[in-house]
Amino acid sequence: MRALCVTVDLDRDVNRAAPGRTEAVCGDDMCCRCGSSGEGAIILSELLDDLNIRGTFFAEAYTLMSVGASSVSGHEVALHGYDHEDFTGQVSGMPMCERDIRDVMERSVNTVKDVTGATPRGFRAPYMRAHDPLMSILGEYGIEYDSSEYASMGRSVMPYLKWGITEIPVPKGKDASGRTIAAYLWPMHEGNRGPRDYIEMASGMEEGVFVIATHTWHMVESIKGGMMDRARREKNLDDVRNVISSLIDSGYEPMTMEQAMGRFPPSGSNARTG
Ligand SMILES: [Zn+2]
Repeated sequence: MRALCVTVDLDRDVNRAAPGRTEAVCGDDMCCRCGSSGEGAIILSELLDDLNIRGTFFAEAYTLMSVGASSVSGHEVALHGYDHEDFTGQVSGMPMCERDIRDVMERSVNTVKDVTGATPRGFRAPYMRAHDPLMSILGEYGIEYDSSEYASMGRSVMPYLKWGITEIPVPKGKDASGRTIAAYLWPMHEGNRGPRDYIEMASGMEEGVFVIATHTWHMVESIKGGMMDRARREKNLDDVRNVISSLIDSGYEPMTMEQAMGRFPPSGSNARTG
């Protein structure tokens, strides 16, 4: 069985880590804005509703509060930090201590609960930068699965146990020309990849979970080109629709990450199926 999980990072606009700061900044500004993210959240949740599938939004708590839960209603909401923290300190130069990590986890879980009314079960580290001090405590905050790792694309891409929880990785492999491709759609939003690249990539999998990932703000704003004009937005939306609907047409069964966790219990776990 092949599952398709459409995952969306609901985070601040064109975010990046900056030296000396734990929280993310937006593009070249040192500000924090979520306008593009709010627009993109509505565009993507409407697309998923149109296709009659439920997606998983990995929400940065601050942006979720700014954007509001109604823009992602009906979909799973999981965690993506509070301020899109650079937990590992790889760029900021300031790795977070355990007390600060715990503070972020507690505040972000509580914020998602308050805003959505539901307890988040999943986590994705900002920038996909995961390290043991963060990952080893996720279970204590009710997190049951994580999606912060890339896995080698093959005929089988299965969830596995790591850090005491289920890891549902984002596939990464090589395209026909030998270039690296991950199932993160951002090169497509930037004009460097087309839907066909991702459809080809997914066609190589025979069983497991194919996790597609994207960002809300990337539906209306790009890193290279700034705010998209109307034609660019429409093409961007058509491209995302094309990838998702082609995979479903080819036999992929769409589901949320929490559903995939139940359907593909990692070997050695006591997770229930169904
Ligand atoms: Zn992010």
